[in-house]
Amino acid sequence: MLSGSCACGAVAFEADASPAPIAFCNCRTCRKVSGTAFGANMSVPRNSFRWLRGEDRLISYESSPGKVRRFCGTCGSAMTAERLGNPDAAVRIRLGTLNTPICNPTFVGHIWRSEAADWFNPKQIVAEWPEAATA
Ligand SMILES: [Zn+2]
Ligand SMILES: [Zn+2]
Repeated sequence: MLSGSCACGAVAFEADASPAPIAFCNCRTCRKVSGTAFGANMSVPRNSFRWLRGEDRLISYESSPGKVRRFCGTCGSAMTAERLGNPDAAVRIRLGTLNTPICNPTFVGHIWRSEAADWFNPKQIVAEWPEAATA
């Protein structure tokens, strides 16, 4: 079981699915809607996914024909993306919303590097800090 919620807590979901490989999408739209270098996404089967609360608080953005991205209308958290019109299509969960652990993650890798931000190189090793940088 995977479950998640937005930053303010108004919206929550769960998916009765096993963890799937994680994709880091560097496409222009994922960068824009996340406000950062890439979106971390996991696809789950449509019929495994349900909103637990706050479905009426969601706002949607059709980023390309038939592809709908959903956000909390209060805090703006990016929640899901899916292609409408195909009941067998997957729901892509924005993994920053997840509250359940993924013990042994597997990865698709970085996708859409052709549209990536020029300031982010996944091969470059940068400093890590347990909290805010102190230097
Ligand atoms: Zn929210
Ligand atoms: Zn993308």
